[in-house]
Amino acid sequence: MPGLKIKKGDTVEVLSGKDRGKQGRVVNVYPNRARVMVEGVNQVKRHETVRPTKSGGGMQGGIITKEMPLDISNLAVVCPSCGKPTRVGHAMGPDGKERVCKQCGGKI
Ligand SMILES: [Zn+2]
Repeated sequence: MPGLKIKKGDTVEVLSGKDRGKQGRVVNVYPNRARVMVEGVNQVKRHETVRPTKSGGGMQGGIITKEMPLDISNLAVVCPSCGKPTRVGHAMGPDGKERVCKQCGGKI
């Protein structure tokens, strides 16, 4: 499998699933699992019981929202130049290999 084309800090768009069409910033990448965590996307609600602490607070349980990682095959990088979800190409730049947008040729 070739290297991941999605990097931390990228903006990506979800191509399938319940969050299809949503965009978010990549906050974490899990190369071994080909998954990335995207801010504000693929949130699940969980009921959590908060254990009482010695200082008193935190007695109540509650629903927390948690983001789950998404498979990179369901994501497309959003090009910062043209603002569209795009395929990522590679080109040689002054600093070595660069990622470029296949639609507008802009650097990603
Ligand atoms: Zn572009």
